[in-house]
Amino acid sequence: MISATVRAVWTRAYAGPVPQPTASLQRTEALARRALLDVTAYDVTLDLATDERTFASLTTIRFSSGSGTTFLDLKPVAVQAVRLDGRPLDPGLLERGRFPLELADGDHELVVEATMPFRNDGEGLHRSVDPADGKSYVYGMSFMDAAPTIFACFDQPDLKAPYTFHVRAPRDWSVIGNAPGQQVEPGVWELEQSQPLSTYFVTIVAGPWHVLRDEHDGIPLGLSARASLAADLDKDADELFTLTRQSFDELHRLFGIRYPFGDYHQAFVPEFNAGAMENPGCVTFRDPLIFSSRVTRGMRIARATTITHEMAHQWFGNIVTPAWWDDLWLNESFAEYLGNRVAADVTDYSDTWVDNAYARRQWGLVADQRPSTHPVAGNGAVDASAALQDFDGISYSKGSAILRQINATLGDEAFFTGVIDHFERHRFGNATMHDLVGSWERAGAEDMTTFTDNWLRTAGPDRIELDRAAGVIRRTPPAGHPADRPHRIRAAVASPDGTWASHLLEIDGPETAFDAGEQPVLLDPYLDSWALTVPDATTIKALATLLPQMTDPELRAGTWSNIRSALHNAAVDPVDVLEIAVASLPIEDTEDTARRTMAWVYGWVLPLQPDPQAALARLHGAARAKVDGAAPASEEQLAAFRALIATSSAPDELEAWLERVDLPDGIDLDLNLRWRALVRLATLGAIDLPRLDRELAAEPTASARVSRAAAHASLPDAAAKAWGWGCFTGETDLPNYELEAVGLGFWRGRQEELTTPYVERYFADLPGTVHTRSGWVLADAAEHFFPRTSMTPETLGRAQALIADGDLDLSIRRRLSDQADTLERKLAVLEAHPHP
Ligand SMILES: [Zn+2]
Repeated sequence: MISATVRAVWTRAYAGPVPQPTASLQRTEALARRALLDVTAYDVTLDLATDERTFASLTTIRFSSGSGTTFLDLKPVAVQAVRLDGRPLDPGLLERGRFPLELADGDHELVVEATMPFRNDGEGLHRSVDPADGKSYVYGMSFMDAAPTIFACFDQPDLKAPYTFHVRAPRDWSVIGNAPGQQVEPGVWELEQSQPLSTYFVTIVAGPWHVLRDEHDGIPLGLSARASLAADLDKDADELFTLTRQSFDELHRLFGIRYPFGDYHQAFVPEFNAGAMENPGCVTFRDPLIFSSRVTRGMRIARATTITHEMAHQWFGNIVTPAWWDDLWLNESFAEYLGNRVAADVTDYSDTWVDNAYARRQWGLVADQRPSTHPVAGNGAVDASAALQDFDGISYSKGSAILRQINATLGDEAFFTGVIDHFERHRFGNATMHDLVGSWERAGAEDMTTFTDNWLRTAGPDRIELDRAAGVIRRTPPAGHPADRPHRIRAAVASPDGTWASHLLEIDGPETAFDAGEQPVLLDPYLDSWALTVPDATTIKALATLLPQMTDPELRAGTWSNIRSALHNAAVDPVDVLEIAVASLPIEDTEDTARRTMAWVYGWVLPLQPDPQAALARLHGAARAKVDGAAPASEEQLAAFRALIATSSAPDELEAWLERVDLPDGIDLDLNLRWRALVRLATLGAIDLPRLDRELAAEPTASARVSRAAAHASLPDAAAKAWGWGCFTGETDLPNYELEAVGLGFWRGRQEELTTPYVERYFADLPGTVHTRSGWVLADAAEHFFPRTSMTPETLGRAQALIADGDLDLSIRRRLSDQADTLERKLAVLEAHPHP
């Protein structure tokens, strides 16, 4: 899986039936059930054609067991029958998603007939209607405990079995799954038996999709998207198929083991919560990755690395699967590392690592400094729903950085010899970190115990910083997580003429001698290690002059990462950071700074300024200089024009652009830019709701619906805020993308008069949202509706009090705790750098 990289749009047709509350599988329960039974095969028949709210699900499970009691996972709307070895059992025994089983020693056949809910929260079998043409689409997202809302199963990653699916669907639909299949009569689809699969990556994708097919190296390839996106998919198909071919060739070369799951279909599906999911044979992607408006190179890199990431999972995750969620890094860190590596090495996106430095480094570093930090390996996940919260920057970005270090130490030959040994030993089975380390040691690695203890099993980053007066670099392990980690990093030292020289440093103790005189110094700007590196005051002061002259994009990305670390730790005055941003933006020659860094500037730098309005005007001036100076129609110009919209305080100018008057040469006001301007007008209070509705009606696409929701919630009037709050509490039912847009639009600077009463309401209403949503959307809403504009000690205290409440849902508590940490850090910046 990969986290969401783009945010966009969609609608659902109705609120589906809500299954009864269920219990999340505990690790101890999974161990006991694995010890008791082996699953031989699943046979699943789904009828998707009779009803728009529910579907019929008939499952036959063949398995063997010892003698004992256990349970089946089943989360239906209704159960018609359960038969064990031909003997009917009482369907009424189902409780909290579990059906108890008493088993004798031997082989068994369990048959379950149930009615299941179509869902509309991006989990289970998700069904939605495209607002552009009214067509319905269905896709399965079993991850991570949603499979039992599709079919009866023993839902844990280490009970793998082959699946055979039979699907009845409306006659104009196509059906695609984990194994090749065909339509045997109108509306009836038979899929071949699959390879052994874990329940969490079983899927079915069904609907009137626009499907494209190709082939490479004996592997049938497919692409699909909604019919209303057909022209956009056709336009991008060449690039998508080319990336797919290049990735297969490189992964086959590196792994020496062929892709074993038959067809490779890539389905772009609506309202998908994550970026993508690696279902064998049928990967699902969020469909904003099919571009309907102009995008920047960074977005194309995000899509390319999503394709390579999911393909890497076919080996790491799908051929060999973690036994339990505490080893999810074996999936995600590897897919992140290899996905970036393959994209950088064999596709047109050789600058992938630079983009990654902007896009992913701080995601991991911030997560690793929070109170909720956890080790990369052995995250301690006690149950499946808690583990979902560990799909974070630590499991992806930090894990990938550590794998790069292992690769640099072992060299490619020993690294991949160990990886191949791991695949061969555990093919179509499950494995742990110890299994992989054993494979590397057999391949020639020295004893890795000390390394894994320090880097993979200990949370938090070391802090590495220059003590100029003492002439040393200090290394400090994180409080509460003692470790002794050597770092091999480069330092960049500025010369008086503005050029930078690189020095290789071995940091293997608390103090390492280093004399830089009075020159600016950046530690680990090439991101060789995993550490928190904070520039000192001398360096920060010089960066407003030096950064705009920096010609090495890798160095520039690492410098921004250091600046962000400094602000997150109150080690720099936000006024100085604004100076650096204003000086740098006009001369940037990649779009990464504008696209990736500006979002951070809006969230972190602007609100901490003594005069945010004056700061906004300065950023607007810098964006205008960039728009004027960039080549017309370049990606840098597009990124800067977006910044120009986002920082505008001039409704007249925004309205003129909407009329295509005075647009900069090279800017085409497509639907995406149009809605950016409309959302900005709404935030300024310069547009009304009927106008937003007319704009949507003029081009009612899924993405426009999401933007309209953001604009509505951004309006500075009491009715709009009341509506937005009703979306949070569940009074108004919204699908996932629109709910997120409302949360992000609700809290705006300079609207405190309207939003202040909702600060207390957030804390009062948050615990109850567990009754209106679950899983992904539950946790996401807790984050998106957090009162981020209320930067006061009182709000922090209120958050901390709620975190201490033992009854709070675990996933809500995790998100609330992370938001409180951000607030606490911002308050620390204000205290350390007062501007009376
Ligand atoms: Zn992944």
